[in-house]
Amino acid sequence: MTSLTTVPAYAVPAPKAPLERTTIARRPVGEYDILIDIKFAGICHSDIHQANEGWGEAVFPMVPGHEIAGVVTEVGPGVTRYSAGDRVGVGCFVDSCRECEYCERGLEQYCLKGTVATYNGREKNGDPTYGGYSRQLVVDENYAVRIPQGLSLDVAAPLLCAGITTYSPLRHWNAGPGKKVAVIGLGGLGHMAVKIAHAMGAEVTVLSQSLRKKDDGLRLGADRYYATSDDATFSELRGQFDIILSTVSAPLPIDAYLRLLKVDGAFVNVGAPEEPNSLNMFSLIAGRRTLAGSSIGGIRETQEMLDFCAEHGLGAEIEVISADEINEAYERVVGSDVRYRFVIDTATI
Ligand code: NAP
Ligand code: ZN
Ligand code: ZN
Repeated sequence: MTSLTTVPAYAVPAPKAPLERTTIARRPVGEYDILIDIKFAGICHSDIHQANEGWGEAVFPMVPGHEIAGVVTEVGPGVTRYSAGDRVGVGCFVDSCRECEYCERGLEQYCLKGTVATYNGREKNGDPTYGGYSRQLVVDENYAVRIPQGLSLDVAAPLLCAGITTYSPLRHWNAGPGKKVAVIGLGGLGHMAVKIAHAMGAEVTVLSQSLRKKDDGLRLGADRYYATSDDATFSELRGQFDIILSTVSAPLPIDAYLRLLKVDGAFVNVGAPEEPNSLNMFSLIAGRRTLAGSSIGGIRETQEMLDFCAEHGLGAEIEVISADEINEAYERVVGSDVRYRFVIDTATI
């Protein structure tokens, strides 16, 4: 491909507006680029936050989608890692500075110059980036990962964000045998956190707003399941957890959750609510507790996560939808009515 290609896509034309079908231009395949025929794209709650400009000013029209799974159809002359026919994924970023301390350590998500986001971002030359709700994507080979044979593309797509965003902190805070992990929120991220923490050997408790999804939670690998709408949950579970991973998209009463940690326990937040949370410092002081956050994961760790998921047979629980159902799916995600990830069949775009 030597010239710009016109590609069908679904875009948010303006903040909070419904998505509609459109076309976008993809750049020519450069020396180190691969052209991906996108097969499936997951819907992450982050897509909705950004479409609503909930995290601040955004780039419109916006083609969301950073849980991308597809097949390589063309490679540039300098490409060494992939060839046509390979099954690949692309997550939340498509470039970074490649030379800062964090890029060198494979922690590109913390690049000092900022990553180039897969959508709602700008390439180094200033061009807007467009995400996975589209048929094709051109990306530098260093920012794609290989999808192992054991995972089908539809259940693999959500791993590119929901999978790595939960795998990375669970690894970093050493979830494993003998560790008690609580996961707050059984949505897209939360259900992968349960599967992954269980596969790592930790004892897993789900803290959900209600007991509505209890059977699912236990089937996915949770040992215990509690409703946070019940005050008794907070007295019964006091001081029990080594790690609490919050995947909640809205502000939480953090102090109440911090009291559920053991001494030296860590509350790790991956949820990215649009409004700030309040915190009473005594909730940390009281048990030498840590309040932390974590952002997605680097390219190397994303590959490690995919290999781990393939080895343990962990794909996302998905509902495949056609492109004309995206707006309805957004409403259901906002209403915590997702089991557990919507995935767009991009052939319908
Ligand atoms: P999701 O599928 O909507 O799941 C969020 C879950 O949080 C819901 O299913 C619900 O679980 C719970 N929840 C929702 N509103 C709540 C409220 N008001 N109070 C208590 N619990 C509530 O969203 P997601 O795609 O997993 O994303 C979750 C959050 O992580 C979003 O804010 C997203 O932007 C963020 N995120 C961050 C990163 C990162 O790098 N840190 C990466 C991806 C996503 P129950 O029904 O079980 O209560
Ligand atoms: Zn995401
Ligand atoms: Zn960097």
